[in-house]
Amino acid sequence: MPLCPMRQMLEEARKGGYGVGAYNVNNMEQIQAILAAAKETRSPVIIQASRGALEYTNLVYLKHLMAAAEEDNPLLPIVLHLDHGPNLALCKEAIAIGFTSVMIDGSIDYDKKTPEGKHPARSFEDNIRVTREVVRYAHARGVSVEGELGTLGGIEDDTHADEVLLTDPDEVEEFCKKTGVDALALAIGTSHGAYKFKHEPVLAMDLVSECRKRAPDTNFVMHGSSSVPKELVDEVNKYGGKLPGAMGVPIASIQEAVKRGIQKINVDTDGRLVVTAAIRKVFAEKPGEFDPRKYLGPARDALAKLIASKMRSFGTAGHAGDYKPKTLADMKAFYASRK
Ligand SMILES: [Zn+2]
Repeated sequence: MPLCPMRQMLEEARKGGYGVGAYNVNNMEQIQAILAAAKETRSPVIIQASRGALEYTNLVYLKHLMAAAEEDNPLLPIVLHLDHGPNLALCKEAIAIGFTSVMIDGSIDYDKKTPEGKHPARSFEDNIRVTREVVRYAHARGVSVEGELGTLGGIEDDTHADEVLLTDPDEVEEFCKKTGVDALALAIGTSHGAYKFKHEPVLAMDLVSECRKRAPDTNFVMHGSSSVPKELVDEVNKYGGKLPGAMGVPIASIQEAVKRGIQKINVDTDGRLVVTAAIRKVFAEKPGEFDPRKYLGPARDALAKLIASKMRSFGTAGHAGDYKPKTLADMKAFYASRK
């Protein structure tokens, strides 16, 4: 089965009333864990790699790891997505090695030579211009595009924003019409990273419903949707970690957001925590262990377990066989017919 276009996967999720998790990867064990969870729960799945992940893995390795994942799981719909693409050049590179979806984060200008973490916001008009350029390039090749409006708080690679500004529904409507994006990241009060909130966050649920009405043809994405369970933070700290207490987005809030119109749920932090906890546990309990398989193996198992539980709670489980992935050629024809 070829890799699946993201537009199709999210439209199927919208029809079915469930959400699809997008899980970040940087190495073989993470890819294997995510696919093992998808196989166990019979879930469609989005694997995503950020700019940092592409630098860390080197594009060629990632390309072949994904080819292996695809070959090993012929019955699962799998999307390969670029997370927070900074510009058209990197989107082009990702498309060239077979990504079926790219995000262009036109809300921030990454290209200026500003210090790390201080990238300036782009104007709304500039965001539309940059996003449109990527949409034109990607759709001509059948590849899906995710855009971003508003500013998400927190830290994801070097995506920093101190202030959380909520998405404006008027802008959503105009942005979707003018760019033709397949998916749009909404700022509804979530935040990137482990240190999200001191109190349980209140997400702007009515805003999701409003955006759903205003842009009925676009799929919506929630970034920074890790739950940062206390047990997981405690586990890391129990085995020598030093993470401050933190709160993420409760599963019930994610489920409510899905009901109101979110299709894609980005999860990175929880995976980092579970992998760290598992490795620390081995190091603490078996200080004589020095075979990497003996700590990367348990980390992989723990990650698979975590992701399988997300797939069940997002409602993704059981939907892998609902449809056959379209080819990029099919999608190219679809986009051409829409013009
Ligand atoms: Zn993000």
